Amino acid sequence: MKAVRIHQFGGPEVLTYEDISDPRPRKDQVLVQVKACSLNHLDVWVRKGLPGVKLPHILGSDIAGEIAEIGEYVTGFNVGQRVLGAPVHFCGHCLKCLAGLQNQCQEFTVLGNAVDGGNCELIAVPAANIIPIPDSLDFNQAASVPLVFVTAWHMLVGLAGVRPGQAVLVLGASSGVGIAAIQIAKLFHCRVITTAGDETKLEKAKALGADHGINHYKQKISDEVRKITNKAGVDIVVEHVGAATWDESVRSLKTAGTLVTCGATTGANVSIDLRHLFARQLRLLGSYMGTMGELHEVLGHVFAGRLKPVVDRTFPLSEIRAAHEYLEKSQMFGKVVVNP
Ligand SMILES: [Zn+2]
Repeated sequence: MKAVRIHQFGGPEVLTYEDISDPRPRKDQVLVQVKACSLNHLDVWVRKGLPGVKLPHILGSDIAGEIAEIGEYVTGFNVGQRVLGAPVHFCGHCLKCLAGLQNQCQEFTVLGNAVDGGNCELIAVPAANIIPIPDSLDFNQAASVPLVFVTAWHMLVGLAGVRPGQAVLVLGASSGVGIAAIQIAKLFHCRVITTAGDETKLEKAKALGADHGINHYKQKISDEVRKITNKAGVDIVVEHVGAATWDESVRSLKTAGTLVTCGATTGANVSIDLRHLFARQLRLLGSYMGTMGELHEVLGHVFAGRLKPVVDRTFPLSEIRAAHEYLEKSQMFGKVVVNP
């Protein structure tokens, strides 16, 4: 089959489109003909080099496609069925997995991180990862959902415990997590404030339901949040930008507010004034992916049309280098998808 592998860490030039042998599904696995694989910032981190990544390596977390072959022990699926893949790897038999907390499993990793991913024509995955998709979603849309929507759902619903009517600040409206978080917060009838670097992106965010937009290049985020919330601040901040916005995110919280973060795109080192942390009774939460239960829960809303994936642009898998360059320029609103 055709696949994109990296044989060394580095820039987009290390992405190599090449022929490798077809994977064989184990008896408990399903072989999927990949039709679409969406990119995430994780792809860039892994390409540049993360611990635990063995070379050569296949990137790509979010896949959608058709079932090509079904292992002997697997029931309930048909060859040719349209499916997406849960972008997670877990042992399935430890206490955490059995309790439904797969993202706390010691073996937990994201597809395409410490295990090979979906930048290829065929991938063998455990049956537990296979989820049928409705005809209303095309493959590019389906591949744009799992990682960012389960991440945003776990942050807002699983960890921050969002309640109807709260004020929520979502950083980075144009990112996959931002697009998912805006819609999930609106599903809970929240007042949503979001940020982006230009007016076009802010208009698109408002079309998704955001009530207020802040241009983070022209305006000071916490000042605008104070104005919008009549000095109160927000109940929840959805962070993933990191160093560039951290101080503003903390300042935007109301007393006893919750900041939940899942990323550090602009840098990982930030500081916190402990006097603010305790005196303002803030909650700072770290989030990583989500559970399989949460994935199924959020997919229910996507399949029903209440939450919508946003595809920005597609590239042939053979042009993966251009896709990475495009992703790193951050000009997109929504997901970048490659098609094998
Ligand atoms: Zn486990």
